[in-house]
Amino acid sequence: MTQQDATQQAAPVQTVVLATRNAKKLTELRRVLDAQGIEVLGLDQVADYPEPAETETTFEGNALLKARACTEATGLPALADDSGLTVAVLGGMPGVRSARWAGPDATDADNLALVLRQIADVPADRRDASFVCALALTLPDGRTAVTHGEVTGRLTMFARGENGFGYDPIFLPDGSDRTTAEMTPAEKDAISHRGHAIRAMVPVLADLLTR
Ligand code: IMP
Repeated sequence: MTQQDATQQAAPVQTVVLATRNAKKLTELRRVLDAQGIEVLGLDQVADYPEPAETETTFEGNALLKARACTEATGLPALADDSGLTVAVLGGMPGVRSARWAGPDATDADNLALVLRQIADVPADRRDASFVCALALTLPDGRTAVTHGEVTGRLTMFARGENGFGYDPIFLPDGSDRTTAEMTPAEKDAISHRGHAIRAMVPVLADLLTR
C-alpha cells in the first residue's frame, strides 16, 4: 500500500452539497471545510432539481427550506445559507427581502440605492444595521442543525468601496472606519455574519457526519 493510499483510508472523505448558485459562497465554504476533510459539492456537480422559492419569513426558515430540498433531491447531506441586511429604522427590513428589495429583477445597485433613499433623512447615530446569516445542515436521515452569525454596524450616507457585493458599499461594521466593500475578502470573512455561521457549523458538521 502506498503512503497516499494509507492516508486516504485513514481519513474517509465526507461529502456535503452546498445548495447555492453563488460561486463566492461555494469558494468561502470550501476554504473552511477542505481543511476538515469534508468535500463540498456545488449544485452544478449534482443532478438538476427544482429549487424552492424563498417563501419563509425568517432566515432560518429559508435556509432549512433550501437545504431540505437539496437533500431530498440528491440523497446527500446539504448546507444552505440565507442572509440579509436588517436596518433598525426600517423595522428590521429589508431582512429576508434583501435580494429583491427594489423589485423581483432588482440589481444590487438598485437595492442599495433604495435603502439609501429610504433613510436619507436619518442622522448618523440612528443608522444602526446588521448583516445576519442562518446556515442550515440537513441529513438524509432527517437530522438538521442551524448555526447563526451576525455583524453589527451602521449605514453610511454614500456608497464606498469596490469589493464584496450587495449592500457592502454602505455597511460600516462597528469599530471599523471602512465599509465591508473597502475590506479584503479575508478581512471581511474574519468579521462577517457568514464567516461566523460557517465557523460555528464546522464542529457540528464534523460531529453529525461521523455519527
Ligand atoms: P441570499 O442569502 O443569497 O438570499 O442573499 C440575500 C441578500 O442579502 C444578498 O443578495 C445581498 O443583497 C444581501 N447580503 C447578504 N450577505 C451580504 C454581504 O455579505 N454583503 C452585502 N450584502 C449581503
